[in-house]
Amino acid sequence: MHTELLGVSEALERLLSHFKPLPAEKISLSDAMWRVLAEDVIAPHPLPPFDNSSMDGYAARARDLVGASSESPIELNVIDDISAGMVVEKPLRELSAMRIMTGALLPPGADCVVPVEKTHNPNALVNQELETIIKVFEEVREGDYIRRAGNDVLNGYQVLDKGHRLWPPDVGMLAALGVSTPLVHGRPKVALLSTGDELLDVSQSLQPGLIRDSNAYSLAAAVESAYAIPLRLGIAPDESESIEEKMEDAVSSGADLIVSSAGVSMGAYDFVRSVIEKRGVLEFWRINLRPGKPLLFGYFDEVPVLGLPGNPVSALVTFEIFVRRVLDKLSGVSNTKKLSIHALLDHEIKSDGRESYLRARVEWVEGNYRANLVGSQDSGALSSLVLANALIIIPEGVQSLARESVVEAWLLDR
Ligand code: AMP
Ligand code: MG
Repeated sequence: MHTELLGVSEALERLLSHFKPLPAEKISLSDAMWRVLAEDVIAPHPLPPFDNSSMDGYAARARDLVGASSESPIELNVIDDISAGMVVEKPLRELSAMRIMTGALLPPGADCVVPVEKTHNPNALVNQELETIIKVFEEVREGDYIRRAGNDVLNGYQVLDKGHRLWPPDVGMLAALGVSTPLVHGRPKVALLSTGDELLDVSQSLQPGLIRDSNAYSLAAAVESAYAIPLRLGIAPDESESIEEKMEDAVSSGADLIVSSAGVSMGAYDFVRSVIEKRGVLEFWRINLRPGKPLLFGYFDEVPVLGLPGNPVSALVTFEIFVRRVLDKLSGVSNTKKLSIHALLDHEIKSDGRESYLRARVEWVEGNYRANLVGSQDSGALSSLVLANALIIIPEGVQSLARESVVEAWLLDR
């Protein structure tokens, strides 16, 4: 049978066109880390909300302090004491000041703050009584040491965009703006299924001919690293009925996506494709990719299925290229494209013309990223992926790249 292999970018484009973000829900801000916003966030008030002091010192009037110097200090009467959270309504009059702490609302009439360091007693604030008179040794101009309302965020400013994944500063911003229940997209549920007569669970002891199911664990970990929820369906032996039953379990568990590994090649016992053809639609199969050529995409009943190859490296590399992008899109991320960098090759690389994602270590050396392949590039050799910190991408059609060539690389998230 002759099958034209699909290019990686065409496969990716076709794949992503089948998915849209999961429905939005309002959740507690405490649970919002890593969720993706389903609406733009517009500041309902300025930040800071009011003019306040940026220093511990004395609220004052700049016009009283013109000409202040160490030779001719200016004396101010301290008439009140304002701690953070207090509201003082009494106005400042000529040659008066109020002690004020960082973050406290300025009193009426004050137009600057004199930091305590610029007065005769720089330690005056450390657990001490209010001084009645201070001497100011330096001029302070209008507006100095005041954080104006809206200085950080103007009222009505769009602080965060729909499609953005929240991380700590964003969560802080939402809290500052009083957004206690942000509208975010749901987290994708991914049913994971390993296929193969040779597979044992991690807790079982080795027997001749059998290996442990590492994909179930590495793929569940990868799903978690994409902030999605793995549903572990376990192992199906290489029989159509068993694979079908597990996929039925996936459907009834409400999975948004089924990810299987193995059983999608040209082997005599590779049944994933025939199950998909029987119970759903085969959208595409086999990609011009190394590692990962046998990748399959289709539907089982109404649920999308990505059939990853069984080799442990192929499974994880195709996860990075395809599954992570799908999970980002389901999660509502507006730009799912991976960040890449450019690196210089430390040595020549031969390729076979397929788009290749090779395991490498990339290091920053004197102003450049430099890449070295690590370990064996055999798609079963998990140890080289353990050593790698990057995948370097050799484009389709390229047979060899000389030392010092520039390559695109993905730094793998640790
Ligand atoms: P297959 O895609 O079924 O031809 O499998 C390709 C290779 O991956 C074979 O050497 C399998 O033993 C191995 N393999 C398949 N599934 C797993 C798994 N879940 N964990 C580790 N290795 C696997
Ligand atoms: Mg197999």
